Amino acid sequence: MNDMFWTPPIRKTLRPHQSKAIELIRQSLGKGFKRIVCQAATGFGKTLTAANIIEGALAKGNRVIFTAPAVSLINQTVEAFENEGIQDIGVMQASHPRTNPAAQVQVCSVQTLARRDIPEAALVIVDECHLRAKVIEQLMKEREDIFFIGLSATPWAKGMGLLWQDMVTPCTILDLIEAGYLSEFRAFAPDIPDMTGVPVSKGDYTEAGAAEVMAGSALMASVVDTWLEKGENRPTLLFGASCAHAQQLHEAFQRAGVATAYVDAFTDVVERQLIEQRFRAGEIKIACSVRTLTTGVDWPVSCIIDAAPTKSKMLHVQKIGRGLRVNKGTEDLLILDHAGNSLRLGLVTDIAQFTLDTTKPGEKQTAEGKEKLPKECANCAALHVGLTCPFCGHERKPVAGVETVDGELIELTPKKAKEPTKEEKQAFYSRALWMADQRGYKSGWAANLYKGKFKVWPRRLHERRIEPDQAFLNYEKSRRIAYAKRKGAN
Ligand SMILES: [Zn+2]
Repeated sequence: MNDMFWTPPIRKTLRPHQSKAIELIRQSLGKGFKRIVCQAATGFGKTLTAANIIEGALAKGNRVIFTAPAVSLINQTVEAFENEGIQDIGVMQASHPRTNPAAQVQVCSVQTLARRDIPEAALVIVDECHLRAKVIEQLMKEREDIFFIGLSATPWAKGMGLLWQDMVTPCTILDLIEAGYLSEFRAFAPDIPDMTGVPVSKGDYTEAGAAEVMAGSALMASVVDTWLEKGENRPTLLFGASCAHAQQLHEAFQRAGVATAYVDAFTDVVERQLIEQRFRAGEIKIACSVRTLTTGVDWPVSCIIDAAPTKSKMLHVQKIGRGLRVNKGTEDLLILDHAGNSLRLGLVTDIAQFTLDTTKPGEKQTAEGKEKLPKECANCAALHVGLTCPFCGHERKPVAGVETVDGELIELTPKKAKEPTKEEKQAFYSRALWMADQRGYKSGWAANLYKGKFKVWPRRLHERRIEPDQAFLNYEKSRRIAYAKRKGAN
């Protein structure tokens, strides 16, 4: 089974993590799995890896379907495959000039696939499988004979593990940064927006709710001022909380004399290409957008302004991923996180998940990863985990009452209330007996009050009486009020 898609030896020159991906997928096939997710971090070279898998399948006489999440990604995918020497490619998309149902490899968008008969294939490669396209999942349910390989940098969507059987992770973002395939980054949190009370839907802040917080005048001004002060005029991608909010920021930057552009899902292809050209030429400094530019965009970015609060680790990592590619002329990525996402969710190098989520529909997702959350350096303000700032070397002082475990600051849990002494118990009982006498109650009343406080009956105590102090009077009164309330409630 595991040599169904490969003819060894693999001809292409692959990077070590790409070869490892192929090896791990082969091992997974060897275990009998037919629906395998390859967790391929940003900058992994997914297309090259996919091309290699396709070549192997073709060599074994198998037809392959490759699905892209958007029509706009089809041409670049075909081009990339052709550059790898794959010739027999057909495109399924309206009246695309490359339409050729006889071709062994079919490239299509999930939208097109939903409207067509599915062509014969032994293998379907699903790009950005975390988006959970309905047509793909339907196909997975109906066609047990077809193999599926999913590709995603963030295959953490709820319930993915109910359809996909296995996940392989050849490397992490941190591995790719350390190997020099991705850029180093520095993150700053100039603002910490107050998200308490912002409505949440499907596990994330509603767009309107997040936009309302972020459109506050102080936050808006801070976004512009921070970039002018810290942004070093870098080519920048800005994420607004909503289209209107991204547009407001676009205008605010223009008023400040910065050349910006606004792009969203409705920006037409030609205009988008023009903006990209001007961005690459340095004529536009900041491209303002919403989520539109989180998938498949490959612009030379070395600064990200994140003004879109999210609770989704997937979205957070996808957004920051847009800036992690290595560009000529910039040594690192600057992250200006006005949304508090890095503080809330962690730095992208600390977010990791190595298993598929198996939450059933209607159930609450429980498998929340426990990322180490960064804190601001007191000296240079960069966000980092641990005690020593990797950027300026400043040592974080452990705060009093806080101890460090594995270089992390962890608050000490408060000590438990100490056990009452025999003398304290005796004093309480004696005061209760005194009060029982005063009110003409039986001594059982005192015993009851005692049990309410110490959870045990008074045993081996003297029957002597003491006049109550204020603490006792307060306690006894609080019990009477609680009793009256219980009575009233019934
Ligand atoms: Zn520092």
